[in-house]
Amino acid sequence: ATPTAVMVATGVGATNGVLIKGGDALEKAHKLKYIIFDKTGTLTQGKATVTTAKVFSKMDRGEFLTLVASAEASSEHPLAKAIVDYARQFHSIDESAEDSKESQNSGWLLDTSDFSALPGKGIQCLVNNKMILVGNRKLMSENSITIPDHVDKFVGELEESARTGVIVAYNGELVGVMGIADPLKREAPMVVELLRRMGVRSIMVTGDNWRTARAVAKEVGIEDVRAEVMPAGKAEVVRSLQKDGSTVGMVGDGINDSPALAAADVGMAIGAGTDVAIEAADYVLMRNNLEDVIIAIDLSRKTLTRIR
Ligand code: ADP
Ligand code: MG
Repeated sequence: ATPTAVMVATGVGATNGVLIKGGDALEKAHKLKYIIFDKTGTLTQGKATVTTAKVFSKMDRGEFLTLVASAEASSEHPLAKAIVDYARQFHSIDESAEDSKESQNSGWLLDTSDFSALPGKGIQCLVNNKMILVGNRKLMSENSITIPDHVDKFVGELEESARTGVIVAYNGELVGVMGIADPLKREAPMVVELLRRMGVRSIMVTGDNWRTARAVAKEVGIEDVRAEVMPAGKAEVVRSLQKDGSTVGMVGDGINDSPALAAADVGMAIGAGTDVAIEAADYVLMRNNLEDVIIAIDLSRKTLTRIR
């Protein structure tokens, strides 16, 4: 495209909340064969809500929720925010009153130390000098936490209904499970259908488990799903699709999506996402609306046909 055409398209994009970071990205978007969508926060609203909290130990419900929320308070993950919100509501704590305080650990939360986020798995930290683990089956098995059959069945049922099952272990024992729902963005199924008609194949990639992933993919109309993928694995999916020379796009919002956004021919970051993702991407979708993926491709097609 000519510099003028790029300038015009960049301007039209900006008006629609689609920031284009250069002519190169603009030239590639029209020949996309695949678009890989991250699940959490990209296809879904990223506004996760706890729908179930079940205690599988002698701990009382309030104690359990405080414990889990304390551990998750240091995490930026949408699942973590849902858990903290739920516990706060259970204890009828007013969020605005809490926000006005300086400290993040506002009274009701327990002190924690040695926090670490384990991307694709969950989090761990120390509470009362005991280790708490909050995350998926992989996190539990890596830490030799046994999941009894009835708990595993309970988690499986949550997953079949498109919820993410979050398992909690404390001091080496499984203590409870939470079910978290994260609804699809309203426009997501339509965008996937439009892409199909444009000849672009949609793929969903997620760190979440297979059962939840399949249930969500079915709702959105995507057949090609890759689940239980670690952050480096997302970039690997991009590269494997590029092998035959196909142009591959990636749409994502998280830190865990940035290697894939960088590896893709066309990386598109959700504007409401993390800075790392925005930096790695060629396009930034400021409105947090997936229709902007179509706008971006359309702009590219129009820009290129005009000069030919
Ligand atoms: P996605 O690829 O869908 O954005 P992530 O890679 O961020 O998902 O996370 C994958 C899985 O790891 C989640 O579905 C969850 O099971 C677990 N996980 C990650 N972070 C957390 C957390 N802070 N608390 C609990 N579980 C988590
Ligand atoms: Mg995400």
